[in-house]
Amino acid sequence: MPDYDVLIVGGGPVGAALALALRGRGLAVGVLEARTPRAAARRDARPIALSHGSRLILERLGTWDRLQPATAILRIHVSQRGGFGRVELGADEARLPALGYVVDYDTLAAALAGALEAEGGCRLIRATVSALDGGPEAALAHFDAGAGPEQSSARLLAVADGGALPSARMQTRDYHQTVVTTRVTSAIPHRNVAYERFTPEGPLALLPMGEGLAVVWTTTPAHAQQLCELPEAAFLERLQDAFGGRLGAFRRAGACTSFPLALRVADPIAKPRVVALGNAAQTLHPVAGQGLNLGLRDAWELAGTMQALIPGEIGAGAHLRAYGARRRVDRRGGIVFTDALVRLFSNDIAPLRIVRGLGLAALGAAPPFKDFVVRRMTFGARG
Ligand SMILES: Cc1cc2nc3c(=O)[nH]c(=O)nc-3n(C[C@H](O)[C@H](O)[C@H](O)COP(=O)(O)OP(=O)(O)OC[C@H]3O[C@@H](n4cnc5c(N)ncnc54)[C@H](O)[C@@H]3O)c2cc1C
Repeated sequence: MPDYDVLIVGGGPVGAALALALRGRGLAVGVLEARTPRAAARRDARPIALSHGSRLILERLGTWDRLQPATAILRIHVSQRGGFGRVELGADEARLPALGYVVDYDTLAAALAGALEAEGGCRLIRATVSALDGGPEAALAHFDAGAGPEQSSARLLAVADGGALPSARMQTRDYHQTVVTTRVTSAIPHRNVAYERFTPEGPLALLPMGEGLAVVWTTTPAHAQQLCELPEAAFLERLQDAFGGRLGAFRRAGACTSFPLALRVADPIAKPRVVALGNAAQTLHPVAGQGLNLGLRDAWELAGTMQALIPGEIGAGAHLRAYGARRRVDRRGGIVFTDALVRLFSNDIAPLRIVRGLGLAALGAAPPFKDFVVRRMTFGARG
């Protein structure tokens, strides 16, 4: 008999969401998480735009209230530098209370981990996993919780480690881009509008966050390094130059954090008794803020597929095939959508600039297409 029905590797937002979704089912669930509360106190400044669909999932998991105040996005303004065409998407047109909500990664991770610890129902072990072995009846996780090497068996190992362990065969494309994040304030209030401005080096997003704005600036690795080393005034000048004057003068840049960008797709996402979800299944470019939203849907749907199973069926071939089939369209949609955006917009080829302008103009002029894009970004491909 395995030690666990489901053992989750990685208690980040996606792993914790899965554990919460499995509460109250009478299953033996464990979570192996490498970050100790002390290490978790180190700031991860990345802003996360949660879709309205993710809000619904977090409400069902009982964690939405822990995220307040999240800043609502009421409009999204998309444009390209040096080209015509722009489009505005509004929550009112989409008949949604908001197009999304901005929180920072640490707040989200702490809210989910806090709910997990407060409500019990699963065993949370602070441990670093070093290897995973799939098998016909059970899988094994090898880990160290501080007292030397240990191992636990499970009917299903759900790998939500962000892609840290080689749990699946990965297809990878290096974007040769780095994203820089920081915080600024602007002379003109943001009025809950999120801006996405495409530049030849990559997209520049300004997301409303509290009274200020979170900057998510994709550029070349060399430029990113330069930006992070600039004194505050020089950084703000570069930002102003890239974004323009729509929000007036920018002030006060917070600390810079940078992340190299690559597309990583697990194919297949499952092997005997082991399945990848969240960033372990697909790590996307942050261009459209899809990665975590997609990961939360992975967690929600994986828990859903276990609802009608007896414990003996969990992690078996039929279960993992059913899960893979259920997630195929949504995963594929997220991967293709973000990858196409990056490839179409991150260049300065004149004919493509015109195509982009025409595309943005058409999107602005065609309400059904706009509605499709908003629903796609809100609920995924199954929305
Ligand atoms: C700059 C930036 C902006 C982004 N903005 C958005 C956005 O607006 N919207 C959106 O939806 N997505 C966004 N994303 C993507 C989002 O951050 C990821 O999709 C999300 O964090 C994935 O969650 P996860 O739980 O799968 O993995 P992670 O967040 O990476 O969590 C993995 C967890 O596993 C643990 N772990 C790792 N290795 C081990 C091990 N060996 N043993 C035990 N535990 C381990 C880690 O400590 C961590 O807690 C953004 C990404 C970046 C870089």
